[in-house]
Amino acid sequence: MAIIPFDDRDGFIWMDGKLVEWRQATTHVLTHGLHYGSSVFEGERCYAGKIFKSHEHNVRLHKSAELLGFDIPYSVEELEKAKYEVLHANNITNGYLRPVAFRGSEMMAISAQHSTVHVAIAAWEWPSMYSMEAKMKGIRLGMAPYKRPSPETEPVASKAAGLYMICTISKHAVEKQGFDDALMLDYRGYLAEATGANLFLIIDGEIHTPTPDCFLNGITRQTIIALAKQLGYNVHERHIQPEELARVQEIFLTGTAAEITPVSEVAGQKFTPGIITQSLIEAYTALTHAHTKTAAA
Ligand code: PMP
Repeated sequence: MAIIPFDDRDGFIWMDGKLVEWRQATTHVLTHGLHYGSSVFEGERCYAGKIFKSHEHNVRLHKSAELLGFDIPYSVEELEKAKYEVLHANNITNGYLRPVAFRGSEMMAISAQHSTVHVAIAAWEWPSMYSMEAKMKGIRLGMAPYKRPSPETEPVASKAAGLYMICTISKHAVEKQGFDDALMLDYRGYLAEATGANLFLIIDGEIHTPTPDCFLNGITRQTIIALAKQLGYNVHERHIQPEELARVQEIFLTGTAAEITPVSEVAGQKFTPGIITQSLIEAYTALTHAHTKTAAA
């Protein structure tokens, strides 16, 4: 498959308050965000013209920046307007949005108190591609070489670019072994999450998910917990030991990009995606498309 580079596409990107031609949405190589990781971002999906949990993503972008010590120079309402401007300018109804905010070039040192903050929002087509049948085959996870660090080590609730360094290294390591993604333990050895998605386990008809005390409490994760409770499932948020995988029947990941992705293997241990995973996929699909249904008569 030919790869179309992300810097060489047609369309428009919103940058610092206005739409610019896609290839002109550039920044200087001496940018604090690039050298020191002072960058935060979002990943969002638009379904049939409506951004799912858009407000929550705007709020999280603000919070991520605040945790890194900078302010986003656009309000939640301004971000909301900008995101729809980008979608309309690129004629996207089913797609992915990538807002990013980073410190600029005024200061090239660790301290960057007087740097300006830049914000860009890109979007591209990304329909949900897989049929239920293909999805339910599940993906294979290998064990990540890195662990999610303690909250004393990094601002774990920030969706900060720098926190993805160990995710990319881990994902590459397991891809070399033939797996699709990496399962990360946390600094205590508990199950944590995948490299870009949260983790759910089904044990004897009940749903268990790791407590998000050292990784992102995903917006999809929170949505799935609420949906599962509405569907009548018991949901347990707790610390989970890797040995407990022996008692697990179904596993799935959740995330904006991953949506609900069933898992068929964790480093040699096999699982069969089943009815609970499928019922949640159906409920999540219905929720993301709820605005397309006309009200019942
Ligand atoms: N953990 C990590 C490391 C992620 O990158 C993501 C994707 N943003 C998630 C969890 C899931 O978050 P969300 O459901 O808000 O997309």
